[in-house]
Amino acid sequence: MARKHMQTSIGTNLGLIEGLKAYRTEDGRVLLFRPHENAKRMQVGAQRLCLPFPSVEQFVDAVKQTALANKHWVPPNGKGSLYLRPMLMGSGHVLGLAPAPECTFLIYATPMGNHYLTKHGAANLYIDDKLHRAARGGTGGIKCITNYSPVFEAVTQARARGFSDVLFLDAATGKYVEEVSSSNVFIVKGNVISTPPIDGTILPGITRKSLMELALDLGYQVEERHIPVEDLMDADQVFCTGTAVIVTPVGSVTYQDTRAEYKTGEETVSNKLKAMLNGIQMGLIEDNKGWTLALN
Ligand code: PMP
Repeated sequence: MARKHMQTSIGTNLGLIEGLKAYRTEDGRVLLFRPHENAKRMQVGAQRLCLPFPSVEQFVDAVKQTALANKHWVPPNGKGSLYLRPMLMGSGHVLGLAPAPECTFLIYATPMGNHYLTKHGAANLYIDDKLHRAARGGTGGIKCITNYSPVFEAVTQARARGFSDVLFLDAATGKYVEEVSSSNVFIVKGNVISTPPIDGTILPGITRKSLMELALDLGYQVEERHIPVEDLMDADQVFCTGTAVIVTPVGSVTYQDTRAEYKTGEETVSNKLKAMLNGIQMGLIEDNKGWTLALN
């Protein structure tokens, strides 16, 4: 093999991904949601993996250009979005245990509809208490591709049993709720909305952060705390958040021999928050937060 084509470094197995969406407004504009947040999160990940990284401006500019070049693929207002997946992959020639000296940055784009194709739009989650996704001090807090490796087996098994997705517990004690395979989780008890804190093992979701701000604006009490699995099972409502799932209500959680069911539908916290968040993303509600970036 010619030396210039060799991919021999362990570092070349490193990679980071991001995910964000472009929405079409009713009057035909295309809006990106908080792309600078994705850029900054990829930058934090690149530092953790010792990868070279494009600047925040380069990242946002590349995302803008990709979305504009594919704008005919952005579905009409209310019919979905164009999902953009920036990827930063390690590359270059080094043999052995060393970070990748170079990287390749590319963006994949595809139209996307609803994530969980369940009957009432509610997800039925399974708690896998044997497999874990992130160890303390590891890379659970960044969006690196290797974080998804521990997830596939659990998710494949759960889906084969009819569940929508897997909710993971902390690897250290197995007692606390962390996150779903590709979304953050919230519980509602009375007027209080709780979500696990960002302390290195869960991804700091951009949707999570946005939703917490909107929930405070709506007068809810919002807290970040370690959530014992018992509190989850005892919650009134549960929902998960993420770029792909937006805000998805959870209809049930199955943990060992117990299945907890939660309120879903019109009169739920997640429904109100989703209307606000998705309304801003789609240009139906005025964006007084400066979260959207219009491309045309
Ligand atoms: N956790 C994980 C593991 C994820 O992959 C995602 C999707 N990016 C999220 C949470 C939600 O993050 P965001 O709201 O930024 O999409």
